[in-house]
Amino acid sequence: MKKPHKKSDISEVPRLRFPEDEARYPWLSLLLDGLAVFDKGTAIAIQRAKRKRNRTVACREGCGNCCGANTDIPVYPLELAGIYWYAIEMLKGPLRETLKAQLTCHEGNPPCPFLIDNGCSIYPLRPGACRLFVVFGRPCSPGEDAYYSRREDVLTPLEEFNNQAFFIMLPFYGITKDEDRMRAITNRVLNVRVQNLQTCNWKNLAQRMEDYDSRVTS
Ligand code: SF4
Ligand code: SF4
Repeated sequence: MKKPHKKSDISEVPRLRFPEDEARYPWLSLLLDGLAVFDKGTAIAIQRAKRKRNRTVACREGCGNCCGANTDIPVYPLELAGIYWYAIEMLKGPLRETLKAQLTCHEGNPPCPFLIDNGCSIYPLRPGACRLFVVFGRPCSPGEDAYYSRREDVLTPLEEFNNQAFFIMLPFYGITKDEDRMRAITNRVLNVRVQNLQTCNWKNLAQRMEDYDSRVTS
């Protein structure tokens, strides 16, 4: 299967559906609903930047310098659950084997361990931070993190969509009442749960993928 890059098809991304898995893992529906809101917010922010400031998106399929350079990619526990599920149960073939090897060797520095042949190997389940990171003008140079080198070319995400996405996903963290969720967003309570994608223990995921492979082949 050809691996899409994270910015391909960014203008109109439908909510992903995995009915059987969502029935088995109810948290997966929360995650997919939330990610779809991130995607919608990104698409609308891009449209506004085009219309109001005549900005052109530089991100293209096969342009993976950001994934090779960014050191601080926030990822939340629900997003991690989604990445684990996708890598363990959905990835197949050579891509799976390459990813396992990369995860095993990953030492916490760029490139992102999910970057394979300039594409994102977990593209449908990439975290919100990756879905929101869009650069205008010219593509990033190798090693460039545009957030620091030219902030003016980086899309500013729409806060209302980010808040809506977190509102949808908060029940995963045991925060279910509307008023509690609103308060949690205002007080940014999930900030203490965020991790850096680069420094997560990905060897653990590689082992879980290996264990899964042993179970399905035995
Ligand atoms: S332009 Fe920059 S942010 Fe966009 S896909 Fe290319 S490297 Fe990534
Ligand atoms: S998860 Fe890694 S490879 Fe995928 S889009 Fe994010 S930084 Fe790029």
